[in-house]
Amino acid sequence: MTLLAVSITKKPTEAAVEDIRRAFAEFGADAVELRLDYMPDADLATLMSAVPEGGTVIVTARDRAEGGAWRYDDDQRIATLVDAAAHHPDYVDVELATWRRRADAESRLGPLLDRPGERSGGEQSPGLILSTHDFDGRPADLDDLVEAIRAAPCQVVKVVWQAESVRDIYRCFEIMRSANRRGGKPVIAIAMGEAGLAARILAGKFGAFLSFCSSEEGAGSAPGQISVHEMKRLYRWDDIGPATTVYGVIGCPIAHSMSPAIHNPALAECDIDGVYVPLRVEPGYENFEAFVGGAAERPWMDVRGLSVTIPHKENALRWIDQALGTPDAVEPLARQIGAVNTLVFDAPGKVRGLNTDYAGALDALTDAMACERNDLDGVPVAVIGAGGASRAVVAGLRHCGCDVTIYNRTYDRAVSLAEEFGCRSAPLEEVDKLDARIVVNTTSLGMHPNVDQTPLSADSLKDDMVVFDNVYNPMQTRLLGEAAEVGCLTVSGVDMFVNQAVAQFEAWTNRAAPRELMRRVVVERLSSR
Ligand code: NAP
Repeated sequence: MTLLAVSITKKPTEAAVEDIRRAFAEFGADAVELRLDYMPDADLATLMSAVPEGGTVIVTARDRAEGGAWRYDDDQRIATLVDAAAHHPDYVDVELATWRRRADAESRLGPLLDRPGERSGGEQSPGLILSTHDFDGRPADLDDLVEAIRAAPCQVVKVVWQAESVRDIYRCFEIMRSANRRGGKPVIAIAMGEAGLAARILAGKFGAFLSFCSSEEGAGSAPGQISVHEMKRLYRWDDIGPATTVYGVIGCPIAHSMSPAIHNPALAECDIDGVYVPLRVEPGYENFEAFVGGAAERPWMDVRGLSVTIPHKENALRWIDQALGTPDAVEPLARQIGAVNTLVFDAPGKVRGLNTDYAGALDALTDAMACERNDLDGVPVAVIGAGGASRAVVAGLRHCGCDVTIYNRTYDRAVSLAEEFGCRSAPLEEVDKLDARIVVNTTSLGMHPNVDQTPLSADSLKDDMVVFDNVYNPMQTRLLGEAAEVGCLTVSGVDMFVNQAVAQFEAWTNRAAPRELMRRVVVERLSSR
């Protein structure tokens, strides 16, 4: 079983005790790591007494050279670890560099250490975790370091480095897997930073010894550490195992994506053994190709589906065409839009590319209007905006036979989009003269924080119009508020957003998505912003 460990860093001792209690009792962590470098004056006996029966304790006093907060010299550090070992933690973590540099680390600590085992009334000696931490990037000699630690007299191998890219998670998984295959020493492999987060979440799938998290949000002792609450509740740590299938969202930036909060509860609700993780892939086709190609080459990762967001939607389409060489695997409308926001991994080497943005928009409209897509044939629609969202909406509307006029601030963009999809175009200044049954705002006007903005005046709205705002933050935009006052039927961007996620979920799982749950999550998230 892979342990979930909470790093304890707080001073004074009472605050650390409180965090230890909460880690085990409230959050159900399996282990705590007592970071004595952050709390050199902590009363170890008191800390240990807060650990419940069966809880695992690791102590360390991390060297500054390896990202620790230790302020004193090596002598005092080793003395602190020797004292700590006398309190019978389960493990003492010492850096490989310290172990090599200081002969007395081995001579003083060594006799106190033993094989790892259960904590049994203080009789058990702690095991040794030998570790390396590189905050500058991936060590060039990573494999040699792993081998050196494996060969040393320790019980657990720990390698930690700053992720250079999301592809570092592959190195983590390979190190974890090779330890298991050889039946060798358990391994902790961590790529720090946002790019490495998936390796922390998926440590249980690949049989790592443990993964670290913080007691609360923002209190991590290393970059990329998330809170135990998030790990347990959002990513369902306890349910992740070797057979867990993997889903995720590729984008940059990715930290504020709502998608993990939508898809993880949906997977849980449908009893699907799967987890959905954020994957920060830097801009550029090469980065996209290297990461997604890497996932496709590793069928043991069990990737089943990926959401693709800014700036990679065009790259996803290009990847299917060029790298896979299977242009037929791109949904025709996604090709017309020029963007794939959903990858479906059907089998090794078989990946389909879809665009669920247009489907999400159409479903939002037809649901509100209580009609079918073919009922939209010939309906006059004004689309305001000519950016990415507009492309998807216009493609969908034209697919249904709508008579579309595109208005945009930069008129040239309206013209070229209109030419591409067989629509009319007009400058934004003329939008107040529009005459349409459906009005769709695809500009960012009215989006937080500019909530007073609106793309057209209330005077141009008529009560028989359907007004659909793609903006979903805020949920009730000025445009929608004014449209409702006039008596228009209004459609919120939230519905489009939820629908595109529903379509992704159903494409990946072939199961009906728990739409209401997904909507509730989105509404809760947006309301709390
Ligand atoms: P985008 O590609 O950057 O396009 C932005 C559009 O807004 C362009 O047409 C731009 O006109 C126009 N615009 C921006 N500022 C303007 C201003 N001050 N006055 C007039 N026009 C202005 O962005 P996008 O990806 O299409 O996103 C647009 C909006 O749709 C965002 O609010 C986004 O959150 C929302 N969206 C919602 C969903 C959903 O699921 N509900 C999905 C995707 C997007 P120019 O061409 O003149 O710059």
